[in-house]
Amino acid sequence: MNITHSESIKKHSNSFLRCINCQSIYSIDEILYRCKDPKCDSLIDVEQNVGKLKETKPEQWKEILGKRTISSPFPYSSGVWGKKEWVLPDIDSKNIVSLGEGNTPLTPMDRLAKEIGIGRLWIKQCGISHTGSFKDLGMTVLVSHVQSLIAKGKPILALACASSGDTSASLASYASYAGIPTIVFLPEGKISTAQLVQPLSCGAIVLSLQTDFDGCMQIVKEITSDQSIYLANSMNPLRLEGQKTMGIETLQQLSWEVPDWFVIPAGNLGNVSALGSGLQLLYDLGCISKLPRICAAQSAHANPLYLSFLKGLKEYSPVKAKKTLASAIQIGNPVSFERAVKTLRSFQGVVEQATEEELANAAARTDLHGMFQDPHTGTAFACLEKLAARGEIGKKDTVVVVSTAHGLKFADSKIAYHEGKLQLKARFQKDYIRLKADVKVIRKTLEKHLS
Ligand SMILES: *Cc1c(COP(=O)(O)O)cnc(C)c1O
Repeated sequence: MNITHSESIKKHSNSFLRCINCQSIYSIDEILYRCKDPKCDSLIDVEQNVGKLKETKPEQWKEILGKRTISSPFPYSSGVWGKKEWVLPDIDSKNIVSLGEGNTPLTPMDRLAKEIGIGRLWIKQCGISHTGSFKDLGMTVLVSHVQSLIAKGKPILALACASSGDTSASLASYASYAGIPTIVFLPEGKISTAQLVQPLSCGAIVLSLQTDFDGCMQIVKEITSDQSIYLANSMNPLRLEGQKTMGIETLQQLSWEVPDWFVIPAGNLGNVSALGSGLQLLYDLGCISKLPRICAAQSAHANPLYLSFLKGLKEYSPVKAKKTLASAIQIGNPVSFERAVKTLRSFQGVVEQATEEELANAAARTDLHGMFQDPHTGTAFACLEKLAARGEIGKKDTVVVVSTAHGLKFADSKIAYHEGKLQLKARFQKDYIRLKADVKVIRKTLEKHLS
């Protein structure tokens, strides 16, 4: 890569690809998942031309974003594309594949904050989305980019991903909406039925492999080394550009007041880095004047980042992920490890882990506050409880927990919890009451329960 070529890419485009290690620059239209230099072979990120974005003042940006609402013309009514200039500025809107992603609720949880012993608490409900997980935020960008590459004549035959469930549901839906064939690689027996039926019903080619997620990931990397099949995992930085809007949107909802903490469940580690990159962009553009801290929450059964954190993030070895209720983060060899380390360093990050019992109880406890949270969000809540108990998250601190999926996708495990079928102490287990259809008997029973 010669300097003049890099300069020319930077001059002629508002976003480009940059190797996170050797800093080589490539055009955004190159189909590339790792640095081209075989000696480097590192991950690549999408980089926005921040210098150009800075020509617009922070107050102007806030006004522009604030004006894009549900009644804005396509594509600006989407929570992701309402930030198009920060996400994929050069894409022609006619190639955008949107299913109305983003614009999810930020729910204040005042009663739960008191119980846990912190200042304020919100849940960013990213699972209230088209396919029921935050993966839609990134998938709209990736599939739109592919649509635009196809329009420019690139011979792409299909999109493919390895998935622990939610990625495949989201990819299959967006690609099928756009009319692009999809291939998904799933680890046999390791995802929920609701997650499996999503890509099937969207008409994807579903391959169920006798391996785990990490094994599927290895295979999809090889299958997509031929550029005719395009890789849709979050190793592909286009996904992260959409996912980074979760932090930006949260700050919008908080009237740009920065919380002390974000807590987010972490598996392949794309989301941690995406959250960080959105918040960093806000900081670089002057829209916020400090950065929050980030806690990455892992299941103790799939905890390579946690183990590395215990060693100051200096050493890393993959683990063999064990079965966990938080099946979407049952990942032992996370693809975006280096990205996440960079983020944790910039955001005074910490990593915590939760056992099966801790994460299941934490989800159930949140449900008693009107929620229906999945086991991954349960993991985040369990880690929040631990950090608050040891004072690392202070009594006055304000915290946003990112909820990554809709609880209804994980109804099986939530039913098993309340039926007492999980091998753990279910602290918030509830059962229904079987009664005769007799008003007198019912009154008596209700009196007992309400006293
Ligand atoms: C994908 C996913 C995660 C983890 O995101 P990564 O980018 O893989 O770290 C967490 N929760 C749910 C529900 C997910 O689907």
